[in-house]
Amino acid sequence: MNDVRSDRLRALPPYLFAEIDRKKRAARNAGRDIIDFGVGDPDQPTHDFIIARMERAIRNPKNHPYPLGGGSPDFRKNIAAFFQKRYSVELDPAREVLALIGSKEGLGHLPLAVVSVGQTVLIPSPGYPVYRAATIFACAEPFTVELTAATHWLPDFDMIPAEVTRKARLMFLNYPNNPTGATATLDFFKRAVAFGRQHNVLIAHDAAYNDMYLTGAPPPSILQVPGAHDVAIEFHSASKTFNMTGWRIGFVAGNADVIAALAAVKANFDSGVFGAVQEAACEAYANFERPELYKMRELYTARAAILCDGLNQFGFQAQPPQATFYVWAGVPRGYDCMTVCSRLLDEADVVGVPGSGFGPTGEGYVRFAVNVSAERIKTAIERMSRMKW
Ligand SMILES: *Cc1c(COP(=O)(O)O)cnc(C)c1O
Repeated sequence: MNDVRSDRLRALPPYLFAEIDRKKRAARNAGRDIIDFGVGDPDQPTHDFIIARMERAIRNPKNHPYPLGGGSPDFRKNIAAFFQKRYSVELDPAREVLALIGSKEGLGHLPLAVVSVGQTVLIPSPGYPVYRAATIFACAEPFTVELTAATHWLPDFDMIPAEVTRKARLMFLNYPNNPTGATATLDFFKRAVAFGRQHNVLIAHDAAYNDMYLTGAPPPSILQVPGAHDVAIEFHSASKTFNMTGWRIGFVAGNADVIAALAAVKANFDSGVFGAVQEAACEAYANFERPELYKMRELYTARAAILCDGLNQFGFQAQPPQATFYVWAGVPRGYDCMTVCSRLLDEADVVGVPGSGFGPTGEGYVRFAVNVSAERIKTAIERMSRMKW
């Protein structure tokens, strides 16, 4: 057998971080002290009050069999209560909430549920690579919607050609945004809902960072827009908010028909989220205003400030993000992002992610995730400051 991969797997875009990954591994194996700003994964442990609930939940035999597919009634009720408190949005726990094995799982399965072969999916670039992969797996056509600094990394709906919107069935959005850290206002979400309504395009908003705001006001939900439930769903994740990336739990909320379709797909792939993890997530979402979360935001804010100050000293253009733990830094003049990342690794043992890995308009930027202690950030800056730009 030459190439065992399916046509869909072969159609995925090439993995642009492969070269950086290879160099990173080689450097580590050579015993070099790598400071890794590459991974979007909290370096802090899950908060104690969540672990305490898990310790009890895991001993309860009720949690040991297959969990109910869409999440326990209690989980859904807790999520509806969270939505009421956080966004003043009413959700029907039975029909408008679905538990996910992390939001990535739901985002990945969504096109199979609502997009037919050959229909178009609108995908923001730069953006989270899963949207495109999921579209290709569903034998649908990705159409790239370019985001740029000039429009604050928000799509301009009027720039999408009429012949594309005619065939489009689904559009992914993601604010606060990975990789740019950009945020969206409720006014923007109103435009998104109006666009969805006018063209019969389902809007799937990825809100994985909605509770990872640092300096600005808490970001809105697209479901706060009147009538949003007709055309929109929103993906949420406990991963970044509660330092729970390894636990695998998130949820999707919004349009009941879409949620039923996604649940029907999921019923054929998985058997739900471990009941004890659902219980722990209930504890997390019931306590989303606890001081631990504010402390965590202060930690990321302080780290981002230190990193930006340092980067700006040697020709990068970096502003602390209002939300997310990503610093999206413009590279020193005359450089492309691949060259910058290679040099950072070769000359300073520092890892950043080339912006072009998230799409062509990411060229000219490097993404630094501040999941590294302040002390290590200072060491990284000291090393970078010795480089000649
Ligand atoms: C991290 C991330 C997710 C996925 O998080 P899960 O752990 O699967 O809940 C989804 N979208 C974006 C943009 C992310 O950065």
